[in-house]
Amino acid sequence: MERSGIIIWAGPLVPDRFPQEKTVQKTPIWVDIDTQVDFVLPHGKLYVPQAEQIIPNLRRLMECARREGILVLSSADAHPPDDPSFEQWPPHCVEGTEGQERIPETQFETSWVLPNRPGCYSQLPTPLPPQVILEKQDYDISSNPNFDPLLERLGERDFFLFGVATEYCVVSAGLALRRRGKNVHLITDAIRAISEEGGRKAIDQMCEAGVALRSTEEVLAARRSAVGK
Ligand SMILES: [Zn+2]
Repeated sequence: MERSGIIIWAGPLVPDRFPQEKTVQKTPIWVDIDTQVDFVLPHGKLYVPQAEQIIPNLRRLMECARREGILVLSSADAHPPDDPSFEQWPPHCVEGTEGQERIPETQFETSWVLPNRPGCYSQLPTPLPPQVILEKQDYDISSNPNFDPLLERLGERDFFLFGVATEYCVVSAGLALRRRGKNVHLITDAIRAISEEGGRKAIDQMCEAGVALRSTEEVLAARRSAVGK
């Protein structure tokens, strides 16, 4: 099977090329929340405590995605310098700054940014790039108006959620996907919370909403058996 280049990302769009069941129905999607310098690295402007400790798992997940052609749907905080949210939080992820960039481990060479404006979705190329980044100014990835059209295009998949911070943007994404009836798996050793209690409550909330809890190793092992390696 042809597995080189960008073609493998295009399962849903070239149904004659691959068996429908294998690609459209079974291929999972990674949902990578806000793994940006300002949140993940200790010198970041809104560092999530110990977030750098999940980097090895982030790296393994991204390597798996690259190898297998799993679409990575990322969110990125992108604030103007005078964003009103800076009354509540220290200024962070300001557009054009180093802190707003993803850490290298979660940034593919080829990605496509969907700014938080209606209509950007229509410019998203076909086949889809390996990584689609939805910008947002709020906690919730679904506040970007391009989120729903993109989900619609992706159809029924299993969504594997990771990133930071658990009790803000990760829980918002998990609940947004569940509200849309999606299967959601939270990778609990690839997330970090700002506070331990907040993180615990957010996980409980997601479980109540029907999110399944997984470990990185469990997810990667399932992929290995799915691709027969
Ligand atoms: Zn923010």
